[in-house]
Amino acid sequence: MQEKFMGFKCRKCGRVMYPRHDRCLSCRGREFEEAELGKEAALVTYTKVYAIPEGIEMPPLVLGIVEFPGGVRAMGQLTTDDPKIGVKLRPVWGKLRKIGEKEVYGFKFEPVEKG
Ligand SMILES: [Zn+2]
Repeated sequence: MQEKFMGFKCRKCGRVMYPRHDRCLSCRGREFEEAELGKEAALVTYTKVYAIPEGIEMPPLVLGIVEFPGGVRAMGQLTTDDPKIGVKLRPVWGKLRKIGEKEVYGFKFEPVEKG
């Protein structure tokens, strides 16, 4: 299974955003098409969340903000609890958490080079 981490490109002005917004942040346009963000992103900042919502395994939950080559930033869960700023990460599809009996899947960011 090959899941791609996609952004949303405004059809009017070309701005790429993630996540999807109702209206373009630049021109207020309403039409978007999917756009590939890239295979790797650099870690801009992160935070460790210790007061985690119920159903998330393995505390702490590490949330990071990453920047793709085109300058698009996205926030997501990291697979490492000791990330370094600037490290290259790649989006991987996997289980994020379990809420009751429901498993939630989505993208997490994993270091490209381990260790
Ligand atoms: Zn726009």
